[in-house]
Amino acid sequence: MEKKIIYKLDDDISFRKCSLFETNGTDHGDCTNFHTKDVNWSDHYFCNQEGIHFHCTKHPEIELERADCSDGEVLTCPKCKNQIHIGSTHVLISRCLRALNREIFKDATLVRLDDWYVPELKEKTKPTPDYRLITNVKTDKDGDTIVVLYVTYVGSEDKVQFFIKPEKGQLTTDHKDLDPAKIISKIEVTLKDRKLIQTYGEDQT
Ligand SMILES: [Zn+2]
Ligand SMILES: [Zn+2]
Repeated sequence: MEKKIIYKLDDDISFRKCSLFETNGTDHGDCTNFHTKDVNWSDHYFCNQEGIHFHCTKHPEIELERADCSDGEVLTCPKCKNQIHIGSTHVLISRCLRALNREIFKDATLVRLDDWYVPELKEKTKPTPDYRLITNVKTDKDGDTIVVLYVTYVGSEDKVQFFIKPEKGQLTTDHKDLDPAKIISKIEVTLKDRKLIQTYGEDQT
C-alpha cells in the first residue's frame, strides 16, 4: 500500500492530498467528500474540496469535521473536540496549496529576466564594447595643455592612462597603469597638424 503523508499546516490543522487530488477516478479512494459525474458513459468521482482534506494535528489519523457557524466555518476534531474557526474552506485550501508549492519550488531555478533580456537590448543600442572613457584637461609646468584620458573596461578595476599634449605633439601612457594592449588595439589622436597613432597587440610587426 502507498505510504500516506499528512502535512502539518500549524498546531491545529494538518492536511492530506486525497486520491482525487488533481485527478478524478472511477472510485473515490480515500476521498471523503466527493460528487460523481458521468464521463464517457461511466461514473467518475471528483473531490469537493480540491483534493485537500484537513486533519487534527494532535490526532493526525482523524479528519476534522466541518460545520458552518455565524462568522464563517468551523472545523472540529471528533476526538479532542478542538474547534478551529476558519474564514472559509476555500481560503484554507489555498493556504495548503501554497504550503505544498513551497515543497515543489524549494530547489527551483531562479531566472532573472533583467539578466536574460537586457544584454540583447544592449547589443542593439551599443555595438561597441563596454569601455568607459574619462577625460581630464590640465596644464603642464610649461603651461601647455595635457588631456588625461582614462580608459577602463567595464567590470575591470584596472585602467589605462593616456597623456595627450597637443602643443608638444605627444601621446604617452603611464607605465604604472595597465598595459594598453590588454584592452585596446589602437589609439589615434588627430591634432591640427599631425596624427599620433599607437597600436598594440601580439600580432604587431
Ligand atoms: Zn477529496
Ligand atoms: Zn484532535
